[in-house]
Amino acid sequence: MNTQISMFPESSHILKGENIRNYVEGGHAVVTLKSPTGKHYTYAFNKPTDGKYTPDKRFVKVHYNNEWVYLGMYYNSHYQSCFKKSDHCLFPDFDEVIKGVKYIIKMCNTPNLVTPMELYHEGVCCRCGRRLTDPKFIERGIGPKCAKMSMIGG
Ligand SMILES: [Zn+2]
Repeated sequence: MNTQISMFPESSHILKGENIRNYVEGGHAVVTLKSPTGKHYTYAFNKPTDGKYTPDKRFVKVHYNNEWVYLGMYYNSHYQSCFKKSDHCLFPDFDEVIKGVKYIIKMCNTPNLVTPMELYHEGVCCRCGRRLTDPKFIERGIGPKCAKMSMIGG
């Protein structure tokens, strides 16, 4: 659970449409949800390294007081993105941290959502977590090698 999570805000970019879900499900996603009032929360969606989880699962963490705090599990059900809060999660359902995750799920399921909320990736490739440098690939949030791999189904 203590996977190293890097962020490179200088390579950050807004995610739109289908890129949102593709990024969140990449395995090493780090995203920031920003509200029009300037409030923002940063989340990671990490692929489990342990084989006991099905491949659609992602551990959801929030960057809170300079720490990554586990919130629960992202998964797919009937082709929809879903979130199940952990029983040990200290944030109540009405907390903005949890509302934020649920909003990201809504954005994943509604690529054409019209919203004043904005979702940015934090400059890392969603597949491998390495820093993105090529402007062409920064927009999608996936590095050239990983983009090639995902095209051939890897
Ligand atoms: Zn990559």
